[in-house]
Amino acid sequence: MNLCDFAPEYIRAIQPYQPGKPISELARDMGLDKHNIIKLASNENPLGTSPLALEAMMIALNDVALYPDGSGFELKAALSKRHGVDPKQIILGNGSNDVLDLAARVFLKPGATAVFSQHAFAVYPLVTQAIGAHGISVPARDYGHDLHAMLDAITPETRIIFIASPNNPTGTVSSEEDLLRFLERASRDVLVVLDEAYNEYLPNTHKTNSIAWLKQFPNLIITRTFSKVYGLAGMRVGFGLAHPDIANLMNRVREPFNVNSIGLAGALAALQDNEFVERSFALNRAGMLQMADGLRKLDIEYIPSYGNFITFRVAGDGSNATKVYESLLRQGVIVRPLGIYEMPQHLRVTIGLASENQQFLDSLENAIGELV
Ligand SMILES: *Cc1c(COP(=O)(O)O)cnc(C)c1O
Repeated sequence: MNLCDFAPEYIRAIQPYQPGKPISELARDMGLDKHNIIKLASNENPLGTSPLALEAMMIALNDVALYPDGSGFELKAALSKRHGVDPKQIILGNGSNDVLDLAARVFLKPGATAVFSQHAFAVYPLVTQAIGAHGISVPARDYGHDLHAMLDAITPETRIIFIASPNNPTGTVSSEEDLLRFLERASRDVLVVLDEAYNEYLPNTHKTNSIAWLKQFPNLIITRTFSKVYGLAGMRVGFGLAHPDIANLMNRVREPFNVNSIGLAGALAALQDNEFVERSFALNRAGMLQMADGLRKLDIEYIPSYGNFITFRVAGDGSNATKVYESLLRQGVIVRPLGIYEMPQHLRVTIGLASENQQFLDSLENAIGELV
């Protein structure tokens, strides 16, 4: 259709984001019973959702004829108290993905550049390209961000640098010292987006005091989400913490009702449910040990991970990883191929329940056996 030719070239060039395969789709495609399928492809919480959040969302259902509170007053008040920031420093998003997109829309334009790491979260290049700005992918070091090289990649046109810690899909973290040194040296004319979607999965020894840095660095925004440890991926709630001037600009650009009322209620309740967060954290720690141990026994190389997932390498060229991915699908186990992350030999698996982790490891052993 001719009209489509008028869409900007940078829009037509976008490669769509590839989500993890839904259980229902695999069941249809392979004729499998959906109850026998496990999805370990999207870093979702295997414990489901906080019971307090579920209850709050049931109650919120009664009011869905009304528009949500567009200011997110109550959730912002709770986040403000939790994190010791002013509500004016908070931007709520339809998932933290929305916050990343808002940052791009506020600070990028055609001719501007955004810097991110090779093997970093796929949304960074996506939101950059959707604006018609230029993305600079900086080669990774040991699968992690090379913060020195990222600093060196800044040009006068650079307006945003995306840093994920822990990063998805590699699970790598940047140390507190390295992040601080980076912030000290980065130009104040560049927005530093510190994506901490997996922050709650970090052991205390690796947690950074990043929110305190907001006082010192007016060009910093920290993004967090309710999709991961809080188990609300389907509700789409995330947030950013930044200087009030930056939050103000981003709040002008966002849709007036970008976070729905059930999501607001669920997030508010989930935030109070420490017991659920602690249980999710502990399950993930045990599951990570189980997975790492199982992979080692199968002689499979993996990247040590600080998230709720682990990325492993299938020896041989990328076609072996594809074969393993497909064999896992046939056995009812959905993981994530990483070709679009320039990691064609790797697959990413989310840490599930102990029984799911075992089912994955058993299926992986079969899949590897089929290769030879
Ligand atoms: C999952 C994830 C997010 C969060 O996405 P939501 O839009 O909040 O669901 C953000 N950044 C990274 C690196 C992620 O893996």
